[in-house]
Order: sequence, then structure tokens, then C-alpha cells
Amino acid sequence: MSLRLTGITLTYPDGDTRLTALDRVSLDVPRGNLTAVVGPSGSGKSSLLAVAATLITADAGTVTIDGTSTTGMSRGELTAVRRRSIGIVFQQPNLLPSLTAAEQLQVMARIDGCKPRSVRSRALELLDAVGLADRAGHRPHQLSGGQRQRVNIARALMNDPTVLLVDEPTGALDHERGAAVIDLITRLTRLRATATVLVTHDRTHLTAADRIVEVHDGRLRPSAAPR
Ligand code: ADP
Ligand code: MG
Repeated sequence: MSLRLTGITLTYPDGDTRLTALDRVSLDVPRGNLTAVVGPSGSGKSSLLAVAATLITADAGTVTIDGTSTTGMSRGELTAVRRRSIGIVFQQPNLLPSLTAAEQLQVMARIDGCKPRSVRSRALELLDAVGLADRAGHRPHQLSGGQRQRVNIARALMNDPTVLLVDEPTGALDHERGAAVIDLITRLTRLRATATVLVTHDRTHLTAADRIVEVHDGRLRPSAAPR
């Protein structure tokens, strides 16, 4: 398994007590698999992704990335795991206004000893893969919302991650553009063999998912088959 969550429990401080955001959640995602996570607002979806991304450490349970448990790792070790193995796409693209599409990707490159030229060609290859070959020199204000989200997705793939974590990528898009973004994520999951977890509130886009799981009050349960 490229991504394995085992018995994850996460609580947040809540006044005098603690709020349980995730309650003994387990999830296995192999490479090339798209697992969709649905559930009402506040059910724990973003918390689940943040734990899988090793951005938050759970109270209990284990996150295993590429066969290696992250339990007990130092902050530096976790950062290295993220750089090497994890791509993260949030709802808002958060692109830097002054950089071109290609530069947004190039600043992500942390490949030690990598020549600027190969970083550039990798950025262009990924922009091509998301259908933006002709937009490489455009800045965010020259791109549509859907195009900006595609730059965001390409950027997450810059370090060739095995695990791709995507949080409500269609939230700011209309139905048609949202469908195109989900379709892109599905294709990239197959093509790049990423273990992909896609959080979305919109089930209509999920016909190509391998599996849909539902979160309710921090608990995971299998959902009806996507097809
Ligand atoms: P979702 O993404 O499904 O909307 P979240 O994972 O963001 O759900 O939130 C799950 C629960 O945890 C909610 O009750 C939310 O209010 C709470 N929560 C999320 N982040 C924090 C935080 N940093 N501190 C305290 N409570 C939080
Ligand atoms: Mg959320």
C-alpha cells in the first residue's frame, strides 16, 4: 500500500474538553487507485487529509507512506517524506501572483542537484499533461479559475509523488469545469500511478472513482459503489 491509515484518532481542543474529529479511521490506498471521500461539512474530511499529509499528527494510529511508518519521525523527517512522496492540492490554488504558470511549478522543485533546465522541462511536461502547454508563460490573472486549479494540480505532481491528496478541488468552479478537474485527477491517478484521495462534497463527479467512502462525525464507512 502506498498510503495506509490505521486506527487514526484525532482530537482538537474544544473549551474544557476535546472534540473528536477522527475516530479510529483506517484506510488503505494502493498506487493507481482513486478513493473519494464524501461527507457533510465538519465531518472530518479535511482533518483526514491533513493527517494523511503528515501536516497534523494524530492522537493515536499510524500513517504509513510507501511502506514506511511515519510514527515517531522528527519534523525534518516528515518534511522530507512530504517532499519525496506526497502531493497536496487544496481548494484554493494559492498561486503566486507574480509568477508564470511554469514558474509556479519550478519553485516547487527540490530535487537535489537538479539542473534548472531539467526542472524547467519537467514543469513544461506537467503543464502539457494538464492541458496547459500553451499557458506556460501566463500569470494567474491571465488564467481562468479552472486553469488555475490545473496549475495547482500540476504543481502538486512536480516531485513525482506516490500519494496525491486533493481537498475539494471543485469548490470554486462551476459544474462543467468541476467535472473536467475531477476527470483530470482521475487520468493523472492512472497515468502516474498515484495513490489518490479526493475529498469532495459533489457526488455527481465520482463515476470514475475506484471507491467512495463516507465520513460522518469522524467515522468512516463504505458508501454505495460508484458505478
Ligand atoms: P470537513 O473538512 O469535513 O468540513 P474538518 O476536518 O475541517 O471537516 O473539521 C472536522 C471537525 O473538527 C469540525 O467540527 C471542525 O470544526 C473541527 N476542527 C477542524 N479544524 C480544527 C482546529 N484547527 N481546531 C479546532 N477544531 C477544528
Ligand atoms: Mg474541509
